[in-house]
Amino acid sequence: MIRTVVCEKEGCSGNTFFIETDNNNLKLTCKNCGSQYEVDISYYDFIMLSNCSKCNNDTFKIFRDLDKEGVYVKCAECGSTPEKVYIDSDGIQVSYDIKLLSDIKEVMYLIEQRVCNLEMRLQDLERGQSTIEESLAYVNKYLIDKV
Ligand SMILES: [Zn+2]
Ligand SMILES: [Zn+2]
Repeated sequence: MIRTVVCEKEGCSGNTFFIETDNNNLKLTCKNCGSQYEVDISYYDFIMLSNCSKCNNDTFKIFRDLDKEGVYVKCAECGSTPEKVYIDSDGIQVSYDIKLLSDIKEVMYLIEQRVCNLEMRLQDLERGQSTIEESLAYVNKYLIDKV
C-alpha cells in the first residue's frame, strides 16, 4: 500500500516538502511549517538532489510504500522525479547518463568476452573436425591398400 507522506505537526498536514540528501537519509522539510523528517534511503544506489529533473521546482510530494521498504519522490508541480546523482564503481558521483553509459560498457564487455569464448570453441571444433577428416582419410587409404 502506498501512502502520501503528510506533515505530522498538529494543524499543519502539509504534503509538500523540500528534500535534501544527507548521507543515507533523505531529509524532508515541510513547506508549510518547516518541520523536518528523515527517511532512510540507504538502499538506493543514487543520491536525490533537491530540485526537479524536469522543471527545476524544489518542492516534492513524498510517497511511502508500507509493504516493502520504499519511498517515492515526485515533483509537486509536474510529477517528475528529482534530479539524481549516481555513484559509479569507483565511488565517484556521476550523472544518470554517465552511469547508464558505463553500465552499457560493462554489458558490452561481457558480450565481447562471450563472443571471444565462442570463437575459441568454434576453432576447437574446426580443429577437431579436421583431425577426424585426416583420420578418415588415413583409414580409407589403409583399407584401399589392403584390398
Ligand atoms: Zn508542516
Ligand atoms: Zn517538476
